[in-house]
Amino acid sequence: MNRTGHVSLSLFAFSLVLMVKNVALVSYLFVLLGAFLPDFDLGIKGLHRKLFHNVWFAGIVGLLIADNVGFMPAQLFLIGFITHVLGDSLTPEGIHLFWPGKTRIRIGGLKTGSMTEYVITLFMFFLGFTILLHYFSFEWTKAVYASGLLLFGLIVVWLRPP
Ligand SMILES: [Zn+2]
Repeated sequence: MNRTGHVSLSLFAFSLVLMVKNVALVSYLFVLLGAFLPDFDLGIKGLHRKLFHNVWFAGIVGLLIADNVGFMPAQLFLIGFITHVLGDSLTPEGIHLFWPGKTRIRIGGLKTGSMTEYVITLFMFFLGFTILLHYFSFEWTKAVYASGLLLFGLIVVWLRPP
């Protein structure tokens, strides 16, 4: 899954958190951290989707955050991490969640950069924005309209179809 896809999934997940828990908007940064950090193994030859895409890595970073920042931020980090590995496990390459164990987790054939990935990305952005706007006390119908407009703006300036 590409970076934009990871952002959209993490935003959607955070919007769900907002529905059940009253957390500060700025704490989305921890979700984003969890969604971004795994791909820092991209530049390490032979270790992509292994070194930073496993439960041990998530556990260590999660504990570090819990210890230094707080339990809630650590949970948000883990939510971001889960959306990341979930997104990657939808691709044919799968992920090595228990690396260095050899088990490869793969639950779909979604090609990175494909039209399907693009549509999923847009849909997650749409849902995420809608819930977020509702959180800012928009009625649902207004939230849906505004979210649609926002998404259209994003498509024009940033989210070009593949
Ligand atoms: Zn990844």
